[in-house]
Amino acid sequence: TEREQGMKSSLKTDYMMGTIVKMKVYASQPEKIIKKSFKIMDNLEQKMSLNIKGSEVKEINKLAGQKAVKISDATYQVIKKGLEYAKLSQGAFDPTIGPLVELWGIGTKEAQIPTQKEIANKLKLVDYSKLKLVPQKKKVLLTKDNMKLNLGANAKGYAADKVVQFWKAKGVKSGFISLGGNVSVLGTKPDGSLWKVGIQDPKEPRGNVMAIVEVKGKTVVTSGNYERYFMKDGVRYHHILNPKTGRPTRKRIISATIVTDNLSSLDADTLSTTVYVLGVKKGLELINKLPGVGALVITRNNKVYMTANLKDEVKIIKKDKYKVV
Ligand code: FAD
Ligand code: MG
Ligand code: MG
Repeated sequence: TEREQGMKSSLKTDYMMGTIVKMKVYASQPEKIIKKSFKIMDNLEQKMSLNIKGSEVKEINKLAGQKAVKISDATYQVIKKGLEYAKLSQGAFDPTIGPLVELWGIGTKEAQIPTQKEIANKLKLVDYSKLKLVPQKKKVLLTKDNMKLNLGANAKGYAADKVVQFWKAKGVKSGFISLGGNVSVLGTKPDGSLWKVGIQDPKEPRGNVMAIVEVKGKTVVTSGNYERYFMKDGVRYHHILNPKTGRPTRKRIISATIVTDNLSSLDADTLSTTVYVLGVKKGLELINKLPGVGALVITRNNKVYMTANLKDEVKIIKKDKYKVV
């Protein structure tokens, strides 16, 4: 048993990257591992936050139209992945969405509905083809003045990967990390049973789940319209923006979950946002082209679309409310 092997567990919750971070590991010295894990996250936040003065992303944005900026491998990988999916989705995902995110301010006290003219002005600055990477030097340049990167859609996935990698390097066999809608699990629970990851009911307060995904060694990442939004005249203005219109997406989709052990959590986080913007049909078409990746998508009218590879892993709890089609 765990006890015989000197195995203990530690569970810790903190607030980082603008969200609640929860970690649990089973190890002989779990507190030490958890402490270092939060340090890893803090270090990544220092590099990729837009709210921290002198972060690498702020530096890139400041020097837009002027100078390529040398950055850490971490920030470089997150930007590179964003660009990769921008190309793959023909701009449904766009890491240069920054100016629009700032204009709308969704999730901040300054949230507002901008005028069409303001939106049109910012739209001119959103264009991933004007983001240049210099791989040999790990440099990044936004080629036009006032362009802005925003890594909110995938930096958390990268952080989850780095924490799990650290655990593996330390010989940890079992643990989970949850940050906002991103969950990664290492191995199984110590007793050999699968980890159970809840999928939030997008129409109920936080903590109400509509399904459970039972997994070992996978990442489960959700993008939804229910955490960061404001209501005006019966319309929900949420934080996932369509880079073509400059407005919150208005497709049927209200939640998109990616489940995989074949791709990283960085990929899964980038994909959850991409699928959300692409919508049900195009989103699932993209997922079906990627081996070892599953998706569960919920629509406004309570329909659930799921890729075939998730049938055994996903248990819908609210069967009366949510119908798998
Ligand atoms: P996802 O679907 O994964 O991403 C949505 C986010 O991606 C949007 O919020 C927007 O930022 C961006 N986005 C929108 N549309 C697109 C698009 N079409 N293509 C690409 N990207 C798009 N929040 C705070 O309130 N305070 C903080 O101090 C804070 N610090 C942060 C530090 C870091 C390093 C990071 C990564 C995020 C931070 N956040 C902070 C942001 C916050 O946690 C976001 O809510 C979160 O990143 C959005 O992730 P999500 O998983 O909810 O949604
Ligand atoms: Mg995402
Ligand atoms: Mg996310």
